[in-house]
Amino acid sequence: METALWHPFSDMAVVREREFVVDRGEDVWVYDTSGNRYLDATASLWYANAGHGRQEIADAAAAQMRKLAGYSTFGDFANEPARELAARLARIAPVPGAKVFLTTGGGEAIDTAVKIARRYHDVRGESSRVHVISRAQSYHGTNGIGTGVAGIDANRTGFGELLPSSSRIPYDSVDALREEILRVGPENVAAFLFEPVIGAGGVLPPPEGYVRGVVDVCHEFGVLAIADAVICGFGRLGTWFGVERWDAEPDLITFAKGVTSGYLPLGGVIAHGRVAEPFWDRPGNALRHGATYAGHPACCAAALANLDILDREGLIERGRTMEGVLADALAPLAAHPLVAEVRAGVGLLGAVELTADVLEQVPTAIGDLASLVRQRGVLVRTLGKAVAVSPPLTVRSEHLQEIEGALAAGLEELALKL
Ligand code: PLP
Repeated sequence: METALWHPFSDMAVVREREFVVDRGEDVWVYDTSGNRYLDATASLWYANAGHGRQEIADAAAAQMRKLAGYSTFGDFANEPARELAARLARIAPVPGAKVFLTTGGGEAIDTAVKIARRYHDVRGESSRVHVISRAQSYHGTNGIGTGVAGIDANRTGFGELLPSSSRIPYDSVDALREEILRVGPENVAAFLFEPVIGAGGVLPPPEGYVRGVVDVCHEFGVLAIADAVICGFGRLGTWFGVERWDAEPDLITFAKGVTSGYLPLGGVIAHGRVAEPFWDRPGNALRHGATYAGHPACCAAALANLDILDREGLIERGRTMEGVLADALAPLAAHPLVAEVRAGVGLLGAVELTADVLEQVPTAIGDLASLVRQRGVLVRTLGKAVAVSPPLTVRSEHLQEIEGALAAGLEELALKL
């Protein structure tokens, strides 16, 4: 039956006739409606960090829903799960005096962070600081501001100008940030937005010294550094927020995905105490921003149960202890003639990029490869020129071998089509 469901980022003229219906999940596995089993090599959309089918998270959310399903946190209203989650995130955040603003997802967190940055400058009398700099190839969600700053050009195209006063720089150069701040004028720049490891734009780890370098440049010019840890957080890079790996102290950190392992929608922004100060310590500076479901009790209860699991099972550290195993598992693919590059080695995050030649000969090559791999019982994500591998943090070495095997076989079959 043809679907009425409009899929994100999808060509419905194609997908309308062939949806892939996922029915249930258990740890690193998901099953379709015919009962076929697949190894979930991308943890859904980079988020099922604790793995699928955790009863503990479902039970915590259900218990909270029976007690108090939803209640807004506008004004002075609060609920215990939201208070507890904020306190816990503030405790583990890699910035002093952290305060936590909750959202319903990552894109909303991005819009929130940029609005906090602009208001922060505004309340301090620097209202000309509105410009936002981001990186080529970056992905920051699809809300208004996230679309306006998108570094994947196609994601910005066709929607009109959603964030005047924004610009992009090459993704690998600290000097480029300094030059751009000087070009725009430091007095006009509000924030620099960066993913510690670029995810959707191709899984691009930062060059040596990059993360620390850009945060230092921001601080030199009074620009707020916003680390987008939506993918990189909650163990994906082997630390809570990714940035700790480079000993960097950003002003704002956005998170989502792994905070609940996707069991319910939730995201947020962690503000350095210094950035929160004008809003927290000076009456009259309410941030006129926030969504109905900010601090939703059931979502927060799911997050707390998820954080318990990540903590108890040592899954945060596992993102790091397994990074070499993932890199070793994927390494043989680099020798395949259709492969331009295998990127892995920072956290449980990897990508296999095809050669320009193949992509030119067969424009559908990435989608074709993902389909061939799926036929072999492994789910990978398509990026522009690559397929991504970012499995649940519970993944074991034999699963990574299976992912490599399916990719190798998929590449062989793709080669036959050329
Ligand atoms: N930022 C990054 C780095 C992301 O990868 C994503 C989503 O993939 C987002 C922001 C947007 O999050 P959401 O899809 O929850 O709005």
